[in-house]
Amino acid sequence: MDIRFHGAAGEVTGSCHLVETAGRCILLDCGLIQGGRKDEERNREAFPFDPKGIDAVVLSHAHIDHSGRIPLLIRAGFAGPVYTHRASKDLCRIMLKDAGYLNEKDAEWENRKRQRKGLAPVAPLYTMQDAVAAMRRFRGLAYDEKTEILPGIDIRLRDAGHILGSAIVELWLAKGGTRRKLVFSGDLGHRGAPILRDPTPVADADLVVMESTYGDRLHRSRDETQAELAAVIANARAERGNILIPAFAVGRTQEILYHLARNYDAWGLAEWQVFLDSPMAIEATEIYLRHNDLYDREAAALWDGNRHRPLLPNLSFTRTGRQSMQLNRVRSGAIIIAGSGMCTGGRIRHHLKHNVWRGNCHVVIVGYQARGTLGRALVDGAKHIRLWGETIRVAAKIHTVGGLSAHADQAGLLDWYGRFEGRPPVVLVHGEPEASSALQAALGSATNAAVRVAGPGERIDLTDAAR
Ligand code: ZN
Repeated sequence: MDIRFHGAAGEVTGSCHLVETAGRCILLDCGLIQGGRKDEERNREAFPFDPKGIDAVVLSHAHIDHSGRIPLLIRAGFAGPVYTHRASKDLCRIMLKDAGYLNEKDAEWENRKRQRKGLAPVAPLYTMQDAVAAMRRFRGLAYDEKTEILPGIDIRLRDAGHILGSAIVELWLAKGGTRRKLVFSGDLGHRGAPILRDPTPVADADLVVMESTYGDRLHRSRDETQAELAAVIANARAERGNILIPAFAVGRTQEILYHLARNYDAWGLAEWQVFLDSPMAIEATEIYLRHNDLYDREAAALWDGNRHRPLLPNLSFTRTGRQSMQLNRVRSGAIIIAGSGMCTGGRIRHHLKHNVWRGNCHVVIVGYQARGTLGRALVDGAKHIRLWGETIRVAAKIHTVGGLSAHADQAGLLDWYGRFEGRPPVVLVHGEPEASSALQAALGSATNAAVRVAGPGERIDLTDAAR
């Protein structure tokens, strides 16, 4: 009876942990490694275990760094089911398909270069077709219901409050007379974040496997964030300009829409037109709307109070490229939410081209911008940007709004762990080394628990782990 950490050990992406008991193998997550080219090449390597020997996958949530290698696992021979929350199943349907599409585009681009060099073509990591086929393995579960997935192995998903459908996984294992309970945090949400409930406290475990993304950080307060957004909208209105918001399709986009809906009157939004200009974000938003039974109390109240009128009466979904291009002519009064979140692709680049050289344009950055991306260049104060071979002056005002993180900060992580009885041992995953060691130190001094940071490929014997 043991667990091995095959991904998101010493890093943030590629979440993948293998649990073995009594000859059965369960994979917790099967995520894509993300980052630079070198990192992403690792996705093509063979799995460090036999995919044919995996009996089931339990998926914590739909983010691609947790789900993105499932189509590869299936292609490599995995023949079992994928258990996840039913909302995660809905989100995976669009996210894995999108990943397949991007893989195909990447391969096309790569192969044009290879052809010119006289090299043999490469195959996409996996295709849209692979992603669609993978969805047939998905079994959607509800929160809080215990399910026997294999003889002697039960799971229960608890709301992790990170994105829609995100789950903490409770896993009960038996081998002969030995019984152990493992709790895998998945990604934990930020307390008080809009729309979703706070991460569910869990009381008992023999071993806790816990994320540590922001183990070394405290987030800015939500009130400050709201005030920042309000100020941007007021300034842009005074200057009669447009507002551009580059946003990730799942989670952040819905959070922004929620803030706009909730403050519709207070922020004078009736004078604006709001455009959601991303087919994927539109689909994700529709899934969020469909699963309104998962909302927190505040969002549920807003939802119930607006049965008879739309939440944001001036919100338009621009699905087609043609509708999107029509926005190029709008000079003022438009709030445009478009992907990609770091401006590396997608429709936001067109909107930047048509707006960013105007002094009355406001760009609101609401998420993390990785080094080397166009979004990061804007945050870092670039005076000019290059788009489609054209140099464009940046005259727009660039605002970075913090406090919208989908992850718990150090205080949130300490609080969640603090609800366990008897201080079970903890293994930290899903964090850069500095973040994990900061959380290790903080947890150790706050609780006296035995805390370690998982190393890549490390194995922990669960029969040894006991309360
Ligand atoms: Zn996540």
